Formats: sequence, C-alpha cells, structure tokens
Amino acid sequence: MANFYKDNDDIKFLLNHMDLGELADLMEQGYKYAEQFDTAPANAQDAIENYELVIDSLGQLCADFVAPRSEEMDHEGNELLPDGSVKRPKAMYEILDQLAKAQVMGMTLPHRFGGLNFPSLMLSVANEMVSRADASLMNIFGLQGIAETINFFADEELKQKYLPDLANGKHTGAMVLTEPDAGSDLQACKVKAFQDADGQWYVHGVKRFITNGCGEVLLIMARSEPEISDGRGLSLFSCYKSPTVHIRRLEDKLGIHASPTCEIFFDNTPVELVGERQRGLITYVMALMNGARIGISAQGLGIGEAAYRIARDYAASREQFGGPIEKLPPIRDLLINMKISVEESRSLLYEACRVVDHEIGMNKTIENPDSDPALVKETKKRLRMIKRYAAMLTPMTKYISTEMANQVASDSISVLGGSGYMRDYACERYFRDARITNIYEGTTQLQVVAAVRHVTNGTAEKYIAELAEYDYEPQTVELLEILKANTETMQECVKFIKERGIDYMDLYGRDLVDIAVKIIGGYLFCQQACSKFDMQTAVGKNGKTMSMKERKLAIAKRYINRCNFEIEACRKRILSGCKSSFELYEEIAGPVPELA
Ligand SMILES: Cc1cc2nc3c(=O)[nH]c(=O)nc-3n(C[C@H](O)[C@H](O)[C@H](O)COP(=O)(O)OP(=O)(O)OC[C@H]3O[C@@H](n4cnc5c(N)ncnc54)[C@H](O)[C@@H]3O)c2cc1C
Repeated sequence: MANFYKDNDDIKFLLNHMDLGELADLMEQGYKYAEQFDTAPANAQDAIENYELVIDSLGQLCADFVAPRSEEMDHEGNELLPDGSVKRPKAMYEILDQLAKAQVMGMTLPHRFGGLNFPSLMLSVANEMVSRADASLMNIFGLQGIAETINFFADEELKQKYLPDLANGKHTGAMVLTEPDAGSDLQACKVKAFQDADGQWYVHGVKRFITNGCGEVLLIMARSEPEISDGRGLSLFSCYKSPTVHIRRLEDKLGIHASPTCEIFFDNTPVELVGERQRGLITYVMALMNGARIGISAQGLGIGEAAYRIARDYAASREQFGGPIEKLPPIRDLLINMKISVEESRSLLYEACRVVDHEIGMNKTIENPDSDPALVKETKKRLRMIKRYAAMLTPMTKYISTEMANQVASDSISVLGGSGYMRDYACERYFRDARITNIYEGTTQLQVVAAVRHVTNGTAEKYIAELAEYDYEPQTVELLEILKANTETMQECVKFIKERGIDYMDLYGRDLVDIAVKIIGGYLFCQQACSKFDMQTAVGKNGKTMSMKERKLAIAKRYINRCNFEIEACRKRILSGCKSSFELYEEIAGPVPELA
C-alpha cells in the first residue's frame, strides 16, 4: 500500500534527527493528562510512538484515498446552489468523513476538547502529506488554526461551544479577514461590529476571498471602534453560519479548485466577542496568521514534493537522443536543484516549527501551577528570545517554501516538456495550485517586510550564533568557515542598509533576507550531516543504499558552495547604493497604459 510518510525518507530522518522527546515533554507538561484522558501519552516514548502512528495512518490515507481523487475534485470544483449553500466536490465529503474518523482534525488541540495535543511540527508533517495528495483539501484540513485561536484567546464558554466539534471533524472553519479594500493592509478593514442595548454583538458588511467561507465556524475580524481608524479599532468575533450569513459568490480561480473561495455578506449577524475588544488584529489575528503561515509553508512543501516526484519519474523513463533525458546535464541540474530546494524548505519549516513549539510549550510551563518557580524564571528569560526567533523564522519559511513550490512546479513542467503542459499529468495542476501559496496569508513581499526587521535588529545574528554552537563533526569544518564568512557579509550589509533608511531597506529587503536564509539553511544542512541519528536511504537503481548523513553532507556541500556565490551577488547589489527603482521609475516604467 502507498504511504506518503513511509515513502519519504527525508521526513523520517528529520523527525529522528530532531529531539521529539523534548517537544513531547513541553506539550504534555509532566504527562499529567495521562491519568484523565485515554489518548494522552504517559511518557515521551509513548508520545513519539503516538505521533508516528497517526502520521503513518494519515500518510496511507493521503496516498491511497485522497491522491487518487484529487484530479476529479479539481475538475468538479464547488458550486453555489440557489439556496445559498455550497456543494463541494463529491469526493471531498468522503475524504472529510475519513479524516474525521481518523481523528486528525484537532491535532494540536488539548486532550480535553478531543484533540491530540500534538506539537505544530507534527501538524506540519500532516499538512505536507495532505497537500501532496491534494492542495485544496489542505486548505480545509489546515484551517485547524481557527480552533487553536479560539483555544488560545477565547473564554471557556466559547471553547466549550466550538472546540469539540472542530476536533471531531463535524465542523470546519473559516478565517474571515479580507475585504475589497483591505487585503495586505488589514488595518483598513471596514466591516462593522456593534452592540445592541443588551450587549449582544452583531457584524455587518462584506468580506471577500474567504477560503471555506461555507464552513460552520467563522472567525471574523471587524471594526468595533468606529472612531479608531487603524488596527487598534478592530476586534475578533466568532459565530456559527446562520441565515444572516450569505455566501454571495464563489470565486472562479486559477487553482485550488476544490477549495471554495467565498464572498460573504454578513447581514447584522449575531456574533460573540473573542477575547478582549481592540486586540483583534494586533494580537489575535497576528497569532492566527503566524500559525496559518506555517500551514501554508507546509502546503507549498507538499506541492513541491509532489511536483519533484513526477519530474524525477518522468526523466528516468522519457527517452530522447537515444537515452533517458535524466542523462542530459541541464535536466540533471534542474532535478537536483528541485530536490535540494524541497529539502531546504523542509529543514527550514521543521526548524520554524521546533521554535514555535518551544514558544507554546514554554508558555505552558509558565502557566502550569505545578512548575518549579526556578524553572519558570529561567523559562521566562529564554522565552523572550524564542519569541523573536519564531517571529523571524515564520515569515522566512513562508517566503522560502511558497516560492520553492512555484519554482519547482514550474521546473517540473519543464522536465516533462509539452506533456507537462497537458492535463494528462498532474504537474499542470501543481503549477496552478502552487501560485496561490505565495499570495495568501500575506504575499512574499509582506513576508520579506516581516522578516527583514529581524535581520536588521540583530535577531538573525543571535540566532545564527546559536546555530553555530552545534556539536559539528570534522567533515563540515570547511563549510562552517564559508558560513562564518557569509555571516560577516550579512553584518556588513545590515550596517550599510541601516545607514540608508527605511526605503532602501524595503528595496533591498529580499536580498538581505536571502542572505540570512541561505546561512541558516547551510547550518541546518550541516547539522543534519552531523546528526546523532543515521539511517540508510535508497539511491539510484538496483536497491543501492547510502547513509543519510553522507547524503546530507553532499547536499550541504553543493548548497553552501552555490549559496556562497549567490550571497556575493546579493552583497554587491546591496552595496551598490543603486536607487534607480525610486529615481528612474517614471522614465523606465513609462506612463500608465490605457487598457483596451
Ligand atoms: C484563493 C484565495 C483564498 C484566500 N483565502 C482567504 C481567507 O481564507 N481569509 C482571508 O481573510 N483572506 C483570504 N484571502 C485573501 C488574501 O490573504 C489576500 O488576497 C492577500 O493577503 C493579498 O491581498 P490583496 O489580494 O488585496 O492584494 P494587495 O494587498 O492589493 O497587494 C497587491 C500587491 O501589492 C503588494 N503589496 C501590498 N502591500 C505591500 C507592502 N507593504 N510592501 C510590499 N508590497 C506590498 C503585494 O505584495 C501584492 O504584490 C484569499 C485570497 C485568495 C486569492
């Protein structure tokens, strides 16, 4: 039987390379839940076995049940019925039913609501496999962040109201933020929230581009303070779908056809306030979007993995000029670059999740009344830094993974040539599906804006210094020297950019973030090449295998040496001082054209 976990040695290797026991300890807080809940683990080993069991069965479901239905769902799409309800593709109902039965719809929710209390790392592994099978499905599966937001910020009554049915898969949710005049700039949201004399809240207005807006549970951001025009005037609300929630249209779009994108009109819809007034955008939606950015990183990764596999398979069997095309140097180069980009994204995503899980777990330690006061004090101190690392790595992974998905999906079509452009092969769907990943949950430009702050304020430097402290083995010495020199380049560029002000920083933000990401990626590959864990992995044909650590060393060498040239190119651009994008914009761009 096919299995998207079992057939992926990189996932297996990374999960063993990382300290899952430490994450389990943080999540389970002394394994105190085991006495109360059958599903809660009694110790770290129990927890890790449980992670593997769930991922393994989900991997099989994705490979055997979801992936074979993906093409059909893409063709069928969703339909808005005259009564205002949305008809999903037939197979989507069956798949959501299977996922509910597999009890994976509340992966990170606490045991007490029927969740699995898994770290976000395991949700990302799941999201990748689901997306590899069907990127549209991942949108619905991945919206588990809505439940997390309710769990983090709502009061107990709302948690009890919404979470059990989200965890058991009876309900799905939607994140209702975007409006016609408020996309990247969510502070501009206008949808009104107001109270009646009894204190009941209502929401009125139009939201657009809402994924799964036909879901049962809606989290809506609206302006509760009409006199405050920025983000401080926004609050977060929840409600079930009801006759006052009208789906006005479904978007007709390029990809993710099986994921309904809805325009919603709220007609004085009764809602509940989540958490405190005015913290809607600045606290709750920021947290919600950070989780969702990790989710979309995994979505991009799943698409990239699927697109790479189809290209690798095709290149081995397609013959031109008397042999398989994989023997041709440009095709080899493409395939190797695709594979390394996929593994770079996975390394970065898992690392971001590890840090985010530490943040979540450390908060639990601080809130746990049984925690030792000395530990709480120590944890509070470390948490400040961990929060900054999480805030930096989250936009970085979103940027890298989703750009990777687009590039790899495009390269996959290149490898398949004309056949890749036809609907006969799934790579045209991967290409279409990938395109949204670097738009929603904040475009790539917005991820760069978020990440660059942390490169210029010293967070990247501190984090890289921590990465450099790992217990590396001698085989990486030369590579570490290059990374050290690259770090000095980063410092030089940061200084130069800071001296030139905010516009210059925005102009060269991507180059600067690229430098930081390439250094981080280099260290992560070196760590994998020096891992305490090793396993054999299949290479080439005839059942040949090699050590995964040796394979990772080969990747680290190629990656770091190539990135070294790219970092130099970024440095030259940054230090050029060129501001032609500002100064010569009108001259080069010409007048705004009149469109026919
Ligand atoms: C299929 C789909 C599903 C979606 N699902 C949801 C959902 O479930 N819930 C939800 O609330 N929203 C959803 N969205 C909305 C999505 O998050 C927004 O489309 C996205 O944030 C971009 O906003 P916009 O489309 O208004 O583009 P704009 O904000 O108009 O951006 C246009 C261009 O300007 C650039 N730009 C804007 N501001 C800056 C800046 N400060 N610096 C640099 N560049 C900038 C952008 O990068 C982009 O290139 C979805 C969108 C789509 C297409």
